Amino acid sequence: MELFKLGIKEAQEGLAKGEFSSSDLVKSIIERYHAKNDEIGAYLTFDEEDALRLAAENPKAVPIAIKDLINVVGQPCTCASKILKGYISPYDATVIKNLKASGFIPCGRVNMDEFAMGSSTENSGLGKTRNPYDLTRVPGGSSGGSAAAVGGNMCIAALGTDTGGSIRQPASFCNCVGIKPSYGRVSRFGVTAFASSLDQVGPMTKSVEDSAILLKALAGHDEMDGTTPRIDVPDYAKEIEGASMKGLKIGLPKEYFIDGLDPEVKRITDEAIKKCASAGAEIVEVSLPHTEYAMAVYYIIAPAEASANLARFDGVRYGHRSAASKDVFTLYTKSRAEGFGPEVKRRIIMGTYVLSSGYYDAYYGRAQRVRTLIKRDFDEVFTKVDALLTPCAPTPAFKLGELQDPLTMYLNDLFTIPSALAGVCASSVPAGFTAAGLPVGVQFICGGFEESKLLSVSKAFEDIVK
Ligand code: GLN
Repeated sequence: MELFKLGIKEAQEGLAKGEFSSSDLVKSIIERYHAKNDEIGAYLTFDEEDALRLAAENPKAVPIAIKDLINVVGQPCTCASKILKGYISPYDATVIKNLKASGFIPCGRVNMDEFAMGSSTENSGLGKTRNPYDLTRVPGGSSGGSAAAVGGNMCIAALGTDTGGSIRQPASFCNCVGIKPSYGRVSRFGVTAFASSLDQVGPMTKSVEDSAILLKALAGHDEMDGTTPRIDVPDYAKEIEGASMKGLKIGLPKEYFIDGLDPEVKRITDEAIKKCASAGAEIVEVSLPHTEYAMAVYYIIAPAEASANLARFDGVRYGHRSAASKDVFTLYTKSRAEGFGPEVKRRIIMGTYVLSSGYYDAYYGRAQRVRTLIKRDFDEVFTKVDALLTPCAPTPAFKLGELQDPLTMYLNDLFTIPSALAGVCASSVPAGFTAAGLPVGVQFICGGFEESKLLSVSKAFEDIVK
């Protein structure tokens, strides 16, 4: 039996019935890793001994692949950056502790864009990842390793992170379900920070039910992260039982249905809308009037926060230290110049610029005010509809090397960035395939801490497209 093909639900059922053990699951994934990783490159590193040890100690646990910016004790945590090559985590992130407490074990480190900056995983400083549906194409990013591992059946499920779309866009490219939880739903303690007011860890899975199970394990208040409120975590898998489109009001924000959308993405999204309507949902057009400013706001706020967060990588405390340094100043500058890749440097320069005195009010202060307007658009729209349905990414997976210009790359997140700025929750759910066989997902968006509703709509949709 090819156990690596299983999802979480099926794996848990098989483990409960004693059909196989956690060690059998891990062994099957290791076999698959040896067969496929040269081709797909989903994993950066895979500590087989550690995974087998954890499985032997927890014979009923389900292995989960971990994006390489989440700390797991004793494992590398490179954020796919040369600056963190050789760094070993001294502790578990809260999400890892939570996983272990709920019958999961971490298993393998998956690739990503360096420090989660990018939309194709091509910004990884440590390896190349290919789309399992077409090896000449990217898996999306920044959680491209997670998506390729799930879509290529190289794991049971994976953790990704989403700052402006990094769970949803790669999920769409690789035929996975991806959930970006509401800001604060999941602890960020032990997750290397990119943009702290946006980052969230979330599940990337083979089904919506698996995402519900995994999110329940991840979510909740954490004393180590002051942005996680004391809001109960529902049993999401129970909440989605019997999910249906009947009686749901689904909004189509007109700002998201623009010219220039790839024709196949448009066709698949239009069909998705029709399917929701015939399954009993009421479809209404709505407006999120400040959408057009979201990209500009994000590319001020995210780099600003990144420039502050990445100041800690200075050659002194973590990872790479330049051998060419002569004094403390060159120790900082040379270690950073040698360690960071071009996109990370670009973000640090942009971020430092918008935060510098004289420009702070003109850029950062103003971006924060517009962010509030974007958030209010969502508050307002969710008084009228249960969920929004939009395309997830403007195109299907593109070719490796196809997007050379950073600005064109940034456009990939056009549809995922506004909800990230608003802090609400959103999913990407497989919706169909292009004529060339590339997967395309659609995005559902619900209000803050409305994950039960989000997962229910997503499940109802999954049921009708299957
Ligand atoms: N692609 C976006 C960026 O490069 C979003 C990344 C993310 O969500 N981590 O910033």
